[in-house]
Amino acid sequence: MLNITEVFCSIQGESTYAGLPCIFIRLAGCNLRCNYCDTTYSYESDINLSHAEIITKIKDYEPVKLVEITGGEPLLQNEVYELFELLNENGYSTLLETNGSISLNNVPDYVVKIVDVKCPGSGEEKSFLLENLEYIHQEKDEIKFVLTDNFDYNWAKDFVFKYKLNDYKILFSPVSDKIDPKDLAKWILDDKLNVRMQLQLHKIIWDKDKRGV
Ligand code: SF4
Repeated sequence: MLNITEVFCSIQGESTYAGLPCIFIRLAGCNLRCNYCDTTYSYESDINLSHAEIITKIKDYEPVKLVEITGGEPLLQNEVYELFELLNENGYSTLLETNGSISLNNVPDYVVKIVDVKCPGSGEEKSFLLENLEYIHQEKDEIKFVLTDNFDYNWAKDFVFKYKLNDYKILFSPVSDKIDPKDLAKWILDDKLNVRMQLQLHKIIWDKDKRGV
C-alpha cells in the first residue's frame, strides 16, 4: 500500500524528458521544507492505494508508457521499490524525482533518477547526501539545482566544479518569480557552463498554481 497525493497524466515539464506525455504518481510525505515548495499539498494525504490499484489506474492512460514517481519525497516509503519492479515488468519507463537527502543505494538501474541538490535559497542546503553522487549515472541520470538568485547560481556552479560533474546531465532551474530567465541565460552563457537551463513547461502552459498538470 502506498500513500498517494495524486495520479495524473500531463506533459512532462522538466528534465531532458520535458515535452513528452507522462504519467505522474505523486507520493505523499516529505522530510524537507523548502522555502519555495510548490507542492505543499503533498505533505499529507488520506489516499492509500495498493500496487495493483496504481497499475490499473495508470493503464487508463495507455499508450503512454513514461511514468514519473515524484512527491513529496518518494523514497520515504519503502513500498516504492516494489512499484519500481512492477512498472518495469509492465513495460513502463520510470523517472524518479527525489530530493537528494535519502540514499539512492537501492534504486534499480532501470530507473532514471532526477536528483535535487538543494541550494542555500531553499533553506535546506545541508540536506544533500554526498554519498548519493556514487549512485548517479553520468549517462542516464540527472542532477537538478533549483535556483532562487545569483548566490544560488554561483553555489551550484561551484558544486558542479568541486565534484567534477561537468559531463553529467545538469539541470539549472530558476524558481519562477525569483529569477528572470534572461538573467539565468546570461550567467550560463557568460560562464560557458555545460548545463541545461530549464523552465517549468507545465507552468508556462497552464496556470502556475494549477494542480494535476
Ligand atoms: S523536497 Fe520537494 S516536496 Fe519536499 S519541501 Fe522541498 S520542494 Fe517541497
